[in-house]
Amino acid sequence: MRYEQWTNMALNNEAISPDDALCILEGTDIDLLRLVTAAGDVRMKHFGRRVQLHQINNIKNGFCPEDCGYCGQSKISCAPVKRYRTKSEDDIVAEAHQAKKNGVFRYCMAASGRGPSPKEAQQLAHVLRRIRDEVGIRTCLSAGLVSDEQAEMFKEAGLDRLNHNLNTSESHTAKIVTTHTYQDRVNTLKAAKKAGIDNCSGMICGMGESNEDIIEVAFNLRKMEVPSIPINFLLPIPGNRLQNFHQLSPSRCLRILCFFRFVNPKAEIRIAGGREYHLRGMQSLALYPANSLFIEGYLVTKGETLESTYQFIHDAGFEVEGVDNKKPDLNEGHIHGDKNILNPKTAFVGNET
Ligand code: SF4
Repeated sequence: MRYEQWTNMALNNEAISPDDALCILEGTDIDLLRLVTAAGDVRMKHFGRRVQLHQINNIKNGFCPEDCGYCGQSKISCAPVKRYRTKSEDDIVAEAHQAKKNGVFRYCMAASGRGPSPKEAQQLAHVLRRIRDEVGIRTCLSAGLVSDEQAEMFKEAGLDRLNHNLNTSESHTAKIVTTHTYQDRVNTLKAAKKAGIDNCSGMICGMGESNEDIIEVAFNLRKMEVPSIPINFLLPIPGNRLQNFHQLSPSRCLRILCFFRFVNPKAEIRIAGGREYHLRGMQSLALYPANSLFIEGYLVTKGETLESTYQFIHDAGFEVEGVDNKKPDLNEGHIHGDKNILNPKTAFVGNET
């Protein structure tokens, strides 16, 4: 097995071959620990032992006209998700302050829907300006499809990064969603990049995709030079169209994370939705290929608490980036959005992160 060769190619930013990609994802003689170590060597070069914590604020939940089969906020989902309109500006800013106190590297706001209306875009720009001026924390916004003009407005308001996941390959997309296309997603990423906003774009694994689909997404993100790649692992919750998909195991998730690290060596690789449920006791190993994760849950599901996340990072010999690595003051309260509806053991993240 060519573990060292994969490491060296990634360190030189050379693309691995399709055959090697398949071997990493499905080779029967892969030694998982050697694979994780090889991917970890690449991570160490670019990020050392630092782990970036991101925190999501689900600022608008549900009421979405789109039909993404994995999402509890979709019009076609019967998942018991509490729906609410956009939170007040003061609440969103207050939660940004709390995220900063929690030691998070980036505050990620997610709003359900196909994309912001002109009025919603103005409101988002206004709150982004307040966060820049009053809080001073890195920001990411996930608000659906975004036009060139809206991206420029968000850039002017101080947005660092815009999230829109490719989610899956172009050919597999039509099996997951019919109300928008893969190209719509690519166009949003292009609009952000054109406006000078960094792209954040990743995948949801476990939606019936083939290894070839995963390979296509990883190489498309490489081609687009996406600096931030969240990898979600589907939680098939009752009520969602993809509720019967049970295709992941901890070792499968680790292989996918290692593969993305080899193909996108310099990118932030983020363990996103489904981390706790699918990686289970192997979460610490995932810190070798990945250098980032979310704290305190996702869009409509709870995750591990802030304290236990800090604990497992430290126990694994890693450190939280940007803080002095003391545990945060847990008496001050954390932000949760409205994640009290679905249990992470049975629930899936509402939409992509
Ligand atoms: S993923 Fe986004 S666009 Fe798709 S249904 Fe959910 S909220 Fe709507």
